[in-house]
Amino acid sequence: MTATLPAANPLRDWVPETRDLLIDARMVAPEGERWDVYNPATEAVIGTVGGASAAQVDAAVAAARTAFPAWAALSGAERSRHIHRLADVFEAAADRLLPSIVNEVGTPVSLASFLQVRMAVDQHLRWAADAAKTDRTVHLGAWSEPAPTLSDVVYEPVGVVAAITGYNYPLNLAIFKFGAALAAGCTVVLLPSPRTPLTTLLMGELIRQADFPPGVFNVIIGGADVGQQLTSHPDVDRVSFTGSDVVGAKIMAQAAPGLKGVTLELGGKSPSIVLPGVDVHKIAVEMHLRWSRNGGQGCAALARLLVHDSLYDEFLEAGAAAFDQMVVGDPWDPATNIGPMIRPDHRDRVRGYIDGSVAAGGTKLLEVTKPLPEKGWFVNPVLLGDLPHDARAVQEEIFGPVAVIMPFTDIDDAVRLANDTPYGLAANVWCGEDLALGRSVAERIRAGTVWINGGGSMRPDAPFGGYGRSGVGRELGEWGMREYLEVKHIQWRV
Ligand code: NAD
Repeated sequence: MTATLPAANPLRDWVPETRDLLIDARMVAPEGERWDVYNPATEAVIGTVGGASAAQVDAAVAAARTAFPAWAALSGAERSRHIHRLADVFEAAADRLLPSIVNEVGTPVSLASFLQVRMAVDQHLRWAADAAKTDRTVHLGAWSEPAPTLSDVVYEPVGVVAAITGYNYPLNLAIFKFGAALAAGCTVVLLPSPRTPLTTLLMGELIRQADFPPGVFNVIIGGADVGQQLTSHPDVDRVSFTGSDVVGAKIMAQAAPGLKGVTLELGGKSPSIVLPGVDVHKIAVEMHLRWSRNGGQGCAALARLLVHDSLYDEFLEAGAAAFDQMVVGDPWDPATNIGPMIRPDHRDRVRGYIDGSVAAGGTKLLEVTKPLPEKGWFVNPVLLGDLPHDARAVQEEIFGPVAVIMPFTDIDDAVRLANDTPYGLAANVWCGEDLALGRSVAERIRAGTVWINGGGSMRPDAPFGGYGRSGVGRELGEWGMREYLEVKHIQWRV
């Protein structure tokens, strides 16, 4: 067993004190429904929060609507300064954001510091702050029919944005949305998952400290009813949502009567392909630690392992070493790399996929068998095999530490299996040194991001999003900015 932090570690139980909503630059006591928030690693209630009442949702949207014209009229350089100041405040609060995320999401501290805090602020928020300054005007030049004219195409902010996030990365997912929206000149109402609201409430306090003009950036919390009111609100112009495909479809329907644009970042069942000739001993640890990261609660988890049949047995042997490195348990133990599932119902759902697969003839090819902590909603990681490609565990997003392996016979077979999914968020191709082959396979896969040989970390300047049931639109980079911009053609006679 590994050493654990002393029970007296002051961060172990630390959660933000803020329970107030941020509406029109004021911290406001919530007047809606109340609920408990849990630490999924200890099962302890770590806070009781109150959501926005219907009147408070209206007030947040009204504040954003009133603030919009002046915020949109600021120069890009001025908006950039505001967003950089927010990044400064977030950076200074990193020692509070980190324990808040570890204690409400259960992400192991060994991963959370970079993945959940530093990358979000240093890279993604700073990039958005700089992108506020970009002049996107396109000078189309001359057109002579029926009379000579000149044209410009300009980009203008869409208006009020409702930003709704999933539970697994509360800071990153929020920054992906509000960074671009604020940079574009939109005003924002942010609504996090009710399962992990504490980090977002802390963000509300930090946003107030960053001194945005009143109403530009509002933070409320609430459940599905608050989300429904926000996404169908007549004064909201655009909805950006991260979560499951089922809720994404509901949000699209709720936004439809108002003909609001939607950006939807949804789930996935992403394949990782091991081509013939690859040294599986070099890649096995990285592959297995990748899909199990954040307890498998990652939208782009590469949890469908497609392995050339010549490498299948060797890949399983090599994978045993990776499973030996999986440490499930206390997120505050620096050696832990697999934390808990967010709630007991989700843990049971994940276990249901494992048990259901075995009952249907599947095999647990690799698994961690160490005893789990007595408290906490943990699941030991499992690699499932011997399942048909239409099995539920192969087709559905499990969102836990469970991967499936399928052999393939040749490259056409690998591409066919990779694309045999209603999703299309991400994929990976392991091709060793044959980058040309890796690239040609990558081009045949229907997914919004394809990594070759593991790719790299999430670039703030590259688009992220999915095909099919993985989403609508893109976040990040210039593509993410365009989600919050209207396009206007201006033409004049010369
Ligand atoms: P979820 O769909 O259960 O809930 C997400 C949010 O939707 C919550 O804030 C919830 O309160 C809200 N909501 C529920 N019903 C609503 C309604 N009718 N109207 C408006 N809002 C409503 O998702 P989750 O369990 O929090 O997150 C996990 C899912 O998110 C997974 O499917 C994962 O793949 C996906 N995800 C995608 C990305 C991406 O970038 N593509 C990133 C992270 C997570």
